[in-house]
Amino acid sequence: MISPDKVREEAKKRENENFKFRTFLKCHVDEDELDSQFLRLHKELFADYDCSKCRNCCKMYKGSIPPEDIDRDAQYLGISPEQFIDTYLEKEEFALNYQTKHKPCDFWQEDGNCKLGDCKPNSCKKYPYTDQPERLSSLLSMLDTIEICPVAFKIFERLKQEYRFRTRR
Ligand code: SF4
Ligand code: SF4
Repeated sequence: MISPDKVREEAKKRENENFKFRTFLKCHVDEDELDSQFLRLHKELFADYDCSKCRNCCKMYKGSIPPEDIDRDAQYLGISPEQFIDTYLEKEEFALNYQTKHKPCDFWQEDGNCKLGDCKPNSCKKYPYTDQPERLSSLLSMLDTIEICPVAFKIFERLKQEYRFRTRR
């Protein structure tokens, strides 16, 4: 697996190739088949990967907290919802969700754990979304994800091998 601190650089080097592969998938691949390929590779490659040694998804994004999580998260941290918002969050005028004030996310801890524990947002639990349906319509955001997540990067590389993409061109 590629090292978390090298993944952006390597993804940038393959930017053109990855965009062409995305177009190839869009034109040639069945949606359900692609979902099952992603799911299989997701299970295989995350099985022995220790995310606590990476946490690029916490370091390279701000945290995104939906308003409906605020009371629960504040209670988990033992503070009031107002204190929770004042201490950790900000919100742009028309945005749906709050964002953490800083990047890395304010809830990221040096040991790799999230300060919100199991109360972390669903979007964090689902990241990098490689086991979720509708991969075919999410391929553009996948191109961003493979600049952040070493496992998603590897999944994309394995898909290229399985479609023998390099030898097709
Ligand atoms: S989901 Fe991806 S980016 Fe996040 S910690 Fe795991 S390997 Fe790293
Ligand atoms: S809320 Fe937790 S899991 Fe989500 S980005 Fe922040 S530290 Fe990571």
